Amino acid sequence: MNETHDCPICGEKVGHWERYPKQVCERCQNKASDAYGRRLQFSNADSSGGFKAFYRDNGAEYHQQICYIDGRKCFANEHRFGGVVVEVVKK
Ligand SMILES: [Zn+2]
Repeated sequence: MNETHDCPICGEKVGHWERYPKQVCERCQNKASDAYGRRLQFSNADSSGGFKAFYRDNGAEYHQQICYIDGRKCFANEHRFGGVVVEVVKK
């Protein structure tokens, strides 16, 4: 996989999957927060995949997949090929 696209938030090059054309870069993914600005962390539920989101400050589970990065609404989900993918929600 050599294709890249520009991160929709900061313009950084991101490895391109056809399935995830609006994926943000890892640095932006790490800046994700909820609607109130609390920082979030995403991970797989277990070794077979799945999706979980947690607050970074106290480790509590975040029961949604919508998050915000630099004010842009994004959607986090399990990546089909492992890990987690965060995409900007189309306006
Ligand atoms: Zn970025």
